[in-house]
Amino acid sequence: MPEKFDAIVVGAGVAGLAAAYKMSQAGLSVVVIERGDYPGAKNVMGGVLYRSMMEDLIPEFWKEAPLQRPVVEQRFWFMDIDSVVTTGYKSQDWAREPYNCFTVFRGQFDQWFARKCTEAGVVIVNETLVEECLVENDKVVGVRTNRPEGDIYANVVVLADGVNSLLAKQLGFHQEWQPQQVALAVMEELKLPSEVIEERFNLEPGMGTTIEIFGGGTLGLVGTAFIYTNKEHLSLGVGALLSQLRQAKIKPYDLLENLKKHPAVRPLIRNAEPVEYYAHLIPEGGYKAVPQLVGNGVVVVGDAAQLVNGIHREGSNLAMTSGRLAAEAIIRAHQMGEFDRRALSHYEETLRNSYVMADLKKYKDSSHLFEKNPKYFNEYLPAANMALHEMLTVDGTSKKDKQKRIMQRILGGNSLYSVGKDLYQAWKAMR
Ligand code: FAD
Repeated sequence: MPEKFDAIVVGAGVAGLAAAYKMSQAGLSVVVIERGDYPGAKNVMGGVLYRSMMEDLIPEFWKEAPLQRPVVEQRFWFMDIDSVVTTGYKSQDWAREPYNCFTVFRGQFDQWFARKCTEAGVVIVNETLVEECLVENDKVVGVRTNRPEGDIYANVVVLADGVNSLLAKQLGFHQEWQPQQVALAVMEELKLPSEVIEERFNLEPGMGTTIEIFGGGTLGLVGTAFIYTNKEHLSLGVGALLSQLRQAKIKPYDLLENLKKHPAVRPLIRNAEPVEYYAHLIPEGGYKAVPQLVGNGVVVVGDAAQLVNGIHREGSNLAMTSGRLAAEAIIRAHQMGEFDRRALSHYEETLRNSYVMADLKKYKDSSHLFEKNPKYFNEYLPAANMALHEMLTVDGTSKKDKQKRIMQRILGGNSLYSVGKDLYQAWKAMR
């Protein structure tokens, strides 16, 4: 191993591998340091991987990458205790190349991506923990690992160490994440024969669907639940803001068990065998929580920079785009021979001009609003179930009387003004 690299990447998740792949292709010497036994060993994701951002790195990757199913349908469920309002969209267009997104197992996908990096010349060192960044004269010059004589030097260090990024915190780029800035998610992989999955989810052979579940799936806590179809497994998961879980004294595992018993979920997972169980944090602080992204000799990418769009369950794509943009800035800095904050600030500029920051900015008030006002999840989502139940139950009551009854129940103790204000604020936060 040479003594000094052009770049060190900490973390072999999709953000780190994207950065490493791009830099290596431009001829830079790159080492990726991963604490897990192999890339993907520590990574948890439901998960849906988006084609466009991966294709920015490896054209037509779907022809060789280990993917589960192309997603042809996305369903949305608004759940109450024993009912659900459903909507969604299915498109044959998503069943054909170049596809829209795929379900994946990150354990498999990240190993494949890491192999592509190795083929491009990246050195990947597994089972090695980066303990701290080495700083000289106010510039990051390398990292200290837990290996004997484990200091490694580089012109730039890319911090791609995920949501628990202790390294960016050590550098003073952010404080400890607050419980309202992270969600705790738990997930199970449930084994089922592929034909059973296809029959239960009304799918053509090999095709996949996703279900995002709001409301009852998290017992009214701010968060979401999901069901994704893989080849021979379902991914079933649920996550809620840590602050809400603590306040309600609910364990995420109990949310998952509760979800599995819901009458809309139960038949989908009948006789499925649980084979894996995971728990992981998801950064949910959004735009306002994005930390300092660039310092002298260092950049922060992916979950480590809170780049997750929770409203659209997008994280892997923001991670890959931020890794790629950081790499492009480092390649440019390499050409200039300068690696200070000013030279690397091109990364921050391009990220701010990309969909990544535009989308985070668009939803900057949403999770705060939903956390502040529990009525959205506890009253308004159940009200949608109640309204449809009322209208669709034929019992001899006139539709006009039903409408009145619905309005009375929705208004309950609330004034029309306060309901209108809540709806307006939700529209404002999401528009
Ligand atoms: P990670 O994938 O977390 O990678 C960080 C890597 O750094 C890890 O390999 C870790 O071992 C390593 N590391 C950490 N610290 C050190 C250290 N000190 N030294 C060495 N190595 C270190 N996103 C989607 O787009 N679609 C989904 O469907 C989706 N579903 C999700 C479901 C769940 C349950 C969860 C938890 C997340 C989901 N996400 C989803 C979010 C997505 O997984 C993340 O946004 C994405 O993985 C971020 O990639 P990353 O490379 O920044 O971080």
